[in-house]
Amino acid sequence: VEQVQGIVRIANRYKIPLFTISTGKNFAYGGPSPNLRGCVTLDLKRMNRILEVNEDRNFALVEPGVTYFDLYRYIQERDLKVWIDCPDPGWGSPVGNALDHGVGYTMQAFRDHFSAHCGMEVVLANGEVLRTGMGALPGAGSWQEYKHGFGPDPSGLFGQGNFGIVTKMGFRLMPQPEAYYIGKISVPKRLDLIPMVKALNYLSDSGLIGEPLFGTPMNALRGNADFRAVLAKPGGPTDTEFDRFAADNNLHAWEVELQFYGPERTNLANWEYAKDLFRQRVPGARAYEGKSFRIPVSREQLLVKNEMPYPSSAPYDPAFGVPNLKNWRYLGRAAGSPDGKLTGDAGFYPIIPRQGQEILKFQRIFGDAPPGHLSAHEYRRRNRADGRAHYTRVIFSNRLPDARIPLHLAFRQGTQRTRPSRIAGHGRGGGRARLGDYRSPPVYQDIVASAYSFGEHALRRFHETLKDAVDPNGILSPGRGGVWPALHRKHRRV
Ligand SMILES: Cc1cc2nc3c(=O)[nH]c(=O)nc-3n(C[C@H](O)[C@H](O)[C@H](O)COP(=O)(O)OP(=O)(O)OC[C@H]3O[C@@H](n4cnc5c(N)ncnc54)[C@H](O)[C@@H]3O)c2cc1C
Repeated sequence: VEQVQGIVRIANRYKIPLFTISTGKNFAYGGPSPNLRGCVTLDLKRMNRILEVNEDRNFALVEPGVTYFDLYRYIQERDLKVWIDCPDPGWGSPVGNALDHGVGYTMQAFRDHFSAHCGMEVVLANGEVLRTGMGALPGAGSWQEYKHGFGPDPSGLFGQGNFGIVTKMGFRLMPQPEAYYIGKISVPKRLDLIPMVKALNYLSDSGLIGEPLFGTPMNALRGNADFRAVLAKPGGPTDTEFDRFAADNNLHAWEVELQFYGPERTNLANWEYAKDLFRQRVPGARAYEGKSFRIPVSREQLLVKNEMPYPSSAPYDPAFGVPNLKNWRYLGRAAGSPDGKLTGDAGFYPIIPRQGQEILKFQRIFGDAPPGHLSAHEYRRRNRADGRAHYTRVIFSNRLPDARIPLHLAFRQGTQRTRPSRIAGHGRGGGRARLGDYRSPPVYQDIVASAYSFGEHALRRFHETLKDAVDPNGILSPGRGGVWPALHRKHRRV
């Protein structure tokens, strides 16, 4: 920490901008690249101490260079009865991932990683060290217990922001559950997505299920030329056409896997309850019995059940708090790449209201994107209900030598298409759609930030006023999150 302070002092003296990374594995969001060319990368991966894992109070306190693999191993080696919540790739860090508002797979209270943090230590642009929450109370012993402390809580400024260098961070951990159960529900018609999402919101917000994993059995018709033809027409298939294809092929329109964590008997009771809920609310809903796993699962069970594609009736390592890198293999296949390699991957994750009708509208926007931009790309989506928000992931990939150009165009176009109100009923105040990305690579961060324009960009002005006050030399990650210090503001892209 003293060395980080020393670096900050030097950077101030010479006005050298720094760009801080923890493990720097932010792939899909720019990897370790800074927003401003010419920054010195401040790489914290060698600050890799696990300072505490507490299984009585269910938290961990770590330095930035600790990876998910490190933390998992530490817990396993000591047989501690707590779980981590990790993203798809396990080589990143709880600190870096949370500071980019990353997400995982288990219960709602843990899978929004920034929300699950409990206390930070931060080196500020002036070289001072600040602790948030109870960490500001010297000798309190309750730093990881209550993250707000007293008075205004500045922790939000350090997530997707550039107001400090985080040198320690606490995370709430889920107590190791006794068992895990996964079961599947499917619903017959396209518009059944509406009552389906409503029921899932209820189950999720009541704390009865983990992350719902969406899919569609209609993928089975990918090779069907007639179905492909209606998918390709402008506006896509009507609901009636879609339902006819489903009924003719004895398929359901949507499916979702429900994950339950806890004692085996409460998991099974909650599954029974969920089945009843869907049967009452969606005529024709089917339930597929899944599998109950006693925790801990064995290595063999993890190997067997990880046969992709995902989502499948088999669960996935991160759903068990087990970090892995299997996602890369799957991605190559999902992207339709002939040799299993992927050359480009950029996430586009607009936050959309957690309602079936909104998801269907959003699907149409993407379905209608001009083929000139999207035809070069296979894209795949995955829906996630993550805490308060529902968003869709689109992966663009391309095997052409000039892949980056169409990727860039498609991404820009995707971002911009969500801004003007093209969807009936979506616009409010100036006809702007209320959709916005939750996370973005540096190259698009200004475009995304500029969409958050309420009050003639009141939020941006507030951020920049703060930035100029606490970092007058603009040395900390200029441009991150769309926040530019006065010294470098001319570099803002929009
Ligand atoms: C196929 C694939 C699947 C993915 N799945 C997921 C997923 O399920 N969930 C998910 O969340 N992400 C996912 N990602 C995105 C990303 O790869 C992970 O989030 C990864 O963990 C981020 O890298 P990192 O942990 O090394 O963070 P870093 O790269 O270290 O940090 C991210 C950013 O946070 C800031 N930062 C980092 N450390 C500090 C610090 N100490 N102080 C101040 N600022 C700091 C920097 O701006 C940095 O660029 C996926 C990516 C791909 C390609």
